[in-house]
Amino acid sequence: MTRTAAPAKTVLISGASIAGPALAYWLHRYGFVPTVVERAPVLRTGGYKVDIRGTAIEVCRRMGVLDEIRARSTDMRGGSYVDDEGRTVGEMPAEIFGGRAEGDDEIMRGELARILYERTREDVEYVFGDSVATLAEDADGVDVTFESGGRRRFDLVVGADGMHSHTRRLVFGDERRFTRHLGAYISIFTAPNHLGLDRWETYHASPGRLACVYSSAGETDAKNLFVFAPAAELSYDHRDVAAQKRLLADAFADGRWELPRLMRHAADAGDFYFDSVALVEMDRWSKGRVVLLGDAAHCASPASGQGTGLALLGAYTLAGELAAAGGDHRAAFAAYERVMRPGVERNQRMAEGFVKEMTVDRRWKIALRMFMVRTLPRTPWRNLIAKKIRDEIQAAAHAVPVTEYGLPAGARTAA
Ligand SMILES: Cc1cc2nc3c(=O)[nH]c(=O)nc-3n(C[C@H](O)[C@H](O)[C@H](O)COP(=O)(O)OP(=O)(O)OC[C@H]3O[C@@H](n4cnc5c(N)ncnc54)[C@H](O)[C@@H]3O)c2cc1C
Repeated sequence: MTRTAAPAKTVLISGASIAGPALAYWLHRYGFVPTVVERAPVLRTGGYKVDIRGTAIEVCRRMGVLDEIRARSTDMRGGSYVDDEGRTVGEMPAEIFGGRAEGDDEIMRGELARILYERTREDVEYVFGDSVATLAEDADGVDVTFESGGRRRFDLVVGADGMHSHTRRLVFGDERRFTRHLGAYISIFTAPNHLGLDRWETYHASPGRLACVYSSAGETDAKNLFVFAPAAELSYDHRDVAAQKRLLADAFADGRWELPRLMRHAADAGDFYFDSVALVEMDRWSKGRVVLLGDAAHCASPASGQGTGLALLGAYTLAGELAAAGGDHRAAFAAYERVMRPGVERNQRMAEGFVKEMTVDRRWKIALRMFMVRTLPRTPWRNLIAKKIRDEIQAAAHAVPVTEYGLPAGARTAA
């Protein structure tokens, strides 16, 4: 029996990064009418490189964006660890550094956000520079007021507004109930490529801290990434960038290698990104007509390397389940969670281990790691170790299935 097209339901999506535009793409194809509201005045294009692996690659293929993602690959060749004086301790190819497998993709987060936005902007209404102020649900829909003063009504609302989700706060309550801090902070910004790196990343580790500078294909500047684990949790306003720059400078104040110079770059950076490394853990991702997606529902932290893949898979699954349930949001939200949750939890567990490795706390442990980095390329079991890292990452990257939903009769076909 051929299913008929789902009734044209209106869906408000909060957040135009990765999850939001990807969901808008699939909803539009299934005959829904999505509107995306983004707090930033324009598309946010900052960020580090992100991986697209495992089943998320298939989602990109089905969205028709895989070729463009590949054309904009970071094309990283590998990386090295340096000591306090900047001497190379050891080098590794990209496969070992990133657990990369044949066919995996890596792209700058901002490039991916732009590709998804371009893919959807003609079919989807985007509202930049605004945010949901209140949500009031009744039996048939949700009345929404916006900070700009506007009022509208939607059938469903999706919070795709990241780890610090405003939608989650409005509907589920205080952020602290759902985020589990993993003891570290991350900062990323762009600066001149004064080390002259070419598709290469350079790491420097000190107790509780890791710094990384790299430059990817087609980039004239370098990206700078810092992870640090202070003795106690920091208290700061996540909208106060000046305060965050001070926290980073304090954490790396006595840093060796290029750190004094990198901290001067941080002070001038226009795209400074700072956040705690945390997991979002919730018993349920939906309440009534409101559902969470991507980092808002289940942030696996940047340490997992899977946040973007999970956001893409979640968007595909949520839209597919809504279409399969003929728009019955209760059945669809429950099925979306059943499909996603085991894979999400597996990736979150992996992230916890990675954070500890990034912020090794003792000098002797760092010395041991440097010894391994130096000797690994010459050891006969080099390939075995590379395989072990790759297998763990690949298993997690395949943990969420790509369910076959099929397009209902009358659905819009891909452009
Ligand atoms: C600027 C930026 C840089 C990032 N850099 C990295 C990185 O280098 N490495 C990494 O692993 N991950 C990074 N991330 C996170 C990464 O994009 C996510 O982990 C992952 O891609 C899942 O995406 P998401 O769409 O669920 O959430 P996010 O990418 O966090 O996107 C959430 C979106 O919601 C918007 N938003 C927030 N509040 C509101 C509101 N009240 N109303 C409307 N919109 C709102 C935000 O501006 C943002 O566009 C970055 C995110 C951003 C926004």
